[in-house]
Amino acid sequence: MGNTEFFKDKTIYVIGMGPGSEDAMTLEAKKILKESDVIVGYTVYLDLLSDDLKDKELISTPMKKEEERCIIAFEEAKKGKNVSFISSGDAGIYGMASLMIEIGEDYPDINVRIIPGVTAASSGAAVLGAPINHDFCVISLSDLLTPFEKIEKRLRAAAMGDFAIVIYNPSSHKRKDYLKKACEILLEVLPPDTACGYVKNIGREGCSAHYCSLSQLKDEEVDMFTTVFIGNSESRMINQKLVTPRGYKREND
Ligand code: SAH
Repeated sequence: MGNTEFFKDKTIYVIGMGPGSEDAMTLEAKKILKESDVIVGYTVYLDLLSDDLKDKELISTPMKKEEERCIIAFEEAKKGKNVSFISSGDAGIYGMASLMIEIGEDYPDINVRIIPGVTAASSGAAVLGAPINHDFCVISLSDLLTPFEKIEKRLRAAAMGDFAIVIYNPSSHKRKDYLKKACEILLEVLPPDTACGYVKNIGREGCSAHYCSLSQLKDEEVDMFTTVFIGNSESRMINQKLVTPRGYKREND
């Protein structure tokens, strides 16, 4: 405990860990985790931490206890400990950054700082090729906190805008057919041969890349550790990679 480079003032760090492997974490994130006394997070993410961080005080709560987990982090910081709160990918993209700032309103003496991480859209895109190298939209299919009508509206608008689309939370135990539903909505606007791909377990054991058309995607089985990419009207396969060109080459030809 005590003063360190990062924990000089009363600060809680909300850290994006990247997709999984330690190599994909930023140096800043690693340094702060090393200087922490306590690391708070969802069990699955704590398990991903490297062995040299396992001597820290690790505090986890099960999924769906998000608010409780945030409060624990602030209470530990109040005791004078150096606290980091971890989220997968980027904590500010479908992560806990916003809730931590909201809960922080009740702890005016504690600063909250967000440390960015590599989000699944970036790490997954890199596995597939360059599928979001032009304007793109990110849409989550989870309707736990967002009504499905709104998700449907966003999918349709993204398709009408000819955006490349990244889909987070494409499936869960209770929402097995959501990707199918999403593809059916997109197919009302987009051609069935639109180039698509998805990546399972990015940066983790069992990482696998898959390429298909939008009409094939409709019947693919994906799990909650999958990120899905839908190309725009220019996207195509080049050398077994999914590419959304920016247009440079056409201009030069
Ligand atoms: N904050 C995270 C996103 C959390 S939402 C980030 O910035 O990446 C959870 C969803 O993110 C998953 O359902 C999946 O669609 C995607 N995701 C996160 N990590 C992933 C990984 N390692 N491999 C594949 N998809 C991942």
